[in-house]
Amino acid sequence: MAVKCRRAAAVVDVSGVKVGGNHPIVVQSMTNTDTADTASTINQVMALARAGSELVRVTVNTEEAAAAVPKIVDCLDKFGVPVPIIGDFHYNGHILLRKYPECARALAKYRINPGNVNIGKKHDDNFRTMIEVAVEYDKPVRIGVNWGSLDQVLLTRLMDENSQLAEPKDAREVTLEAIVVSATESAKAAERYGLAHDKIILSAKVSGVQDLIDVYRALAARCDYPLHLGLTEAGMGSKGIVATTAALAVVLQEGIGDTIRTSLTPLPNGDRTEEVIVSQQILQSLGIRSFTPQVTACPGCGRTTSTFFQEMADQIQTYLREQMPVWKAHHKGVEEMRVAVMGCVVNGPGESKHANLGISLPGTFEEPKAPVFVDGRLLKTLKGDRIVAEFIELLDNYVATRY
Ligand code: SF4
Repeated sequence: MAVKCRRAAAVVDVSGVKVGGNHPIVVQSMTNTDTADTASTINQVMALARAGSELVRVTVNTEEAAAAVPKIVDCLDKFGVPVPIIGDFHYNGHILLRKYPECARALAKYRINPGNVNIGKKHDDNFRTMIEVAVEYDKPVRIGVNWGSLDQVLLTRLMDENSQLAEPKDAREVTLEAIVVSATESAKAAERYGLAHDKIILSAKVSGVQDLIDVYRALAARCDYPLHLGLTEAGMGSKGIVATTAALAVVLQEGIGDTIRTSLTPLPNGDRTEEVIVSQQILQSLGIRSFTPQVTACPGCGRTTSTFFQEMADQIQTYLREQMPVWKAHHKGVEEMRVAVMGCVVNGPGESKHANLGISLPGTFEEPKAPVFVDGRLLKTLKGDRIVAEFIELLDNYVATRY
């Protein structure tokens, strides 16, 4: 599959997870628990890591949260979940990182929002303090601009300069430029304060798809820092998933982006791990990175009025995802496997032959039998009540012998 070459970004090591260069694009996520509630945070971090999140960010907004961080990291280690934990700081990071050195030491990376530290003002001591702590503990930093908290001093300056031009740009262009400049100028300041070039990751998150594309193209053209991609405040359900995919797909296809996060708003008590699955699916659909076997299933139509094949496609998909942690350890390459579950004879056999393993279920009025194809060849025909169970047995055998 033709995927454009990635731009050559610097490489940042986040406690063993390499971000940038030609390293695989890293999937990350963020908890929505109160970090001070260590039990809930540990449980959610473990769920996110189990789902495939390779970095997990937690908010560090209070003294209680800062005090909880070392306990969380320690406990995760004891549970055998060594996922790097990133601290998300706003407003008071300079105080918390100095007052809680164990927190500063335990975190794998700090996220600094230049919009709410005092960078750009006459004295940028807060920003400087956070960078100095990062240098002291040898930690990388993500300078994460968000247009919801954009540095207003910088924006005002650029707006003023723009208004003096013979042909001023529109406000959108100036705002997007301010976002990019905020990220790159903050990175320069961080280097001035002693942070190594290969300790810096940049992000510049906006909530509009076209804005994201423009901002990241500009960032990628102006610097070689690894870029963290994400559509901020993407929203709920299909809107959030589609908007994130639309935005990220364009820039990823251009080779831009070294780590991604999908910022979905979950339903109350919803499953936070959905954002990890979506990020993985974006990368796998683009042919950039494989995480789990893919199921090709037809949408169904009037030729197959029963829900049997929909249920079967769902059961197979769930089975594949649940098996992956086990398979991954013993069957290298299984994440590339393609499985087809098709509803009738029209496209069923053809699509099944393109998959590693495919089944073509009988449509309405068709003979009640389901041919199974393995690597393009008819293996056997299943009938009766045990079609799903027998297909799963064939799937297990295929994985055991092929990978
Ligand atoms: S494969 Fe058959 S059931 Fe599925 S969408 Fe096509 S015609 Fe309809």
